[in-house]
Amino acid sequence: MALRNLKEFCIPAKREQVGAVFDKYGDGALFLAGGTFIHGLEARGLLSEVEALVDIRKLGLDGLAVTAEGIRIGAATTFAGLAQTPDLNNAAWLGALKDALAYPPMQIRNVATVGGCLAAACPFFDLPTAFMGLDGRIAVQGSGAQREMELAELFVGLFENSLKPGELITELMLPKPVGRSTSAFIKLEGTANDLALVNVAVRVSVDPDGICRDARVALGGGVGDRVLRSPSAEGLLRGQEITDKLLRAAAEAVGQDIKPMTDHRASAAYRLAMAKVFTRRALNRALGRLN
Ligand SMILES: Cc1cc2nc3c(=O)[nH]c(=O)nc-3n(C[C@H](O)[C@H](O)[C@H](O)COP(=O)(O)OP(=O)(O)OC[C@H]3O[C@@H](n4cnc5c(N)ncnc54)[C@H](O)[C@@H]3O)c2cc1C
Repeated sequence: MALRNLKEFCIPAKREQVGAVFDKYGDGALFLAGGTFIHGLEARGLLSEVEALVDIRKLGLDGLAVTAEGIRIGAATTFAGLAQTPDLNNAAWLGALKDALAYPPMQIRNVATVGGCLAAACPFFDLPTAFMGLDGRIAVQGSGAQREMELAELFVGLFENSLKPGELITELMLPKPVGRSTSAFIKLEGTANDLALVNVAVRVSVDPDGICRDARVALGGGVGDRVLRSPSAEGLLRGQEITDKLLRAAAEAVGQDIKPMTDHRASAAYRLAMAKVFTRRALNRALGRLN
């Protein structure tokens, strides 16, 4: 049995109860949210050291709040819950979220959570790339005070996050960009329902005179050991008039910031070429939403 050392399964109703379990078991305790990623680890025999599972679904961490600043999403919100975001289908700036939510299969959407997909630090998932393209920040609660961090601080390696034992992601914030803004997400998959070979999320803010005021370009799917931003592409776009030539140059520039991997599904050279193609397509899709 893969969880052969499991001694406790806790379903705390208050956040204060979480600390006691981690005090007792330290690294031997693990949060459980939707369980879709954990199930894969268990099936591969990778959870033999786990002594306590802490189910977070009764902690009241699900739900959405739309404010003037943007959207606050509880970490235990499922993808299906996230799809209920008001104005998701009409607000151009939320285009990347709408696009990314279309990929996970229905069974996964109904249980997988926002916090779980971020904490897994898997660069092949789609939602984390979309969240990074939308400039997402998370709130984290440990034994001390709550703190906030950018997603770039959370992802520190392949399946590796920067959380300390017992630290819980409580919330994701997606700030509403200023001005006329739009976003999009695109994924390249080998077969239907496959994890991404490459995925790209972009967000662009454009003045009425066609000048790009701000840009975010995020890439995942094996273009590095984590989801990455492309400062080179963002820098090229910022302050420039949006033209086809500029979009092509920005797409080409992502090559300066990514380190694609070779695995059994694709070579690094193929991922590099596709990252550029998909960045251009994502930019075109986002800008198309403004019209
Ligand atoms: C068949 C299948 C298809 C999939 N297809 C897609 C797809 O198309 N696109 C896509 O983006 N993803 C896809 N996924 C991946 C899916 O998005 C993740 O498995 C899911 O988001 C993980 O969330 P969870 O709530 O199930 O996490 P869990 O499995 O419960 O936990 C994952 C990890 O996060 C930790 N954790 C959970 N919540 C928190 C928290 N709040 N704070 C700190 N740590 C926490 C857990 O301890 C664990 O280490 C697929 C998965 C499967 C199994």
